[in-house]
Amino acid sequence: MYIILLGAPGAGKGTQADILSSELNLAHVASGDLFREALKKETELGLLAKFYMERGKLVPDEITIKMILQRIEMPDCDSGCLFDGFPRTLAQAEALDKGLTDKGKHIDKVVYIKVSDEELLKRLGGRWLCQDCQTPYHLLTVPPKVPGKCDKCGGELYQRDDDKEDTIKERLRVFFGQTIPIVDYYRNQSKLIEVNGDRGIQEVAKEIIPSLGVK
Ligand code: AMP
Repeated sequence: MYIILLGAPGAGKGTQADILSSELNLAHVASGDLFREALKKETELGLLAKFYMERGKLVPDEITIKMILQRIEMPDCDSGCLFDGFPRTLAQAEALDKGLTDKGKHIDKVVYIKVSDEELLKRLGGRWLCQDCQTPYHLLTVPPKVPGKCDKCGGELYQRDDDKEDTIKERLRVFFGQTIPIVDYYRNQSKLIEVNGDRGIQEVAKEIIPSLGVK
């Protein structure tokens, strides 16, 4: 099954993707994580992406599409995967459809996690991540058991540079300008499932899983 999680930055895509990928045994393909890994390794891709990420802008489609199409060639995506943070533009959505069609596959469902603006700003401000396994925490809603340490692997927690206030505003502006049109693209294909993401993590997960019709 190929599933896309759509939502603004801070909507909880990463958290829901973690739950869904283990519940449904699907590879988690997160474009932001792939860029951050490349940046950590200082590859050409990482250095290119850095310029855009630091400013809250989208990395150009050509670079992003190539990275994702390469990623889905890996064996763990043979029978499906969960896309998180991709696609974010119509060109990316169309390129993904084409890439999957060439492999004889297709997107099954698209889950749009809808969250109010006030809630998004509140969440993004307190977000921290594990630098080793990328598990997300929130100082108010999902604090780690030991401050500054990951519950799962003990890694150090850090705040992303692009979770600073000005960059957050730019990322939200980009989302509402460039990513919202793809909601209609998938609605027109009758693949869209809309979920109210203003609620707690487990409540949102409990709505998503049955709506996919696999469990
Ligand atoms: P995320 O972790 O999904 O919030 O992504 C962090 C940053 O990586 C974004 O603000 C963009 O600069 C870049 N990025 C991630 N996914 C994409 C994408 N699908 N298209 C373009 N840029 C992306």
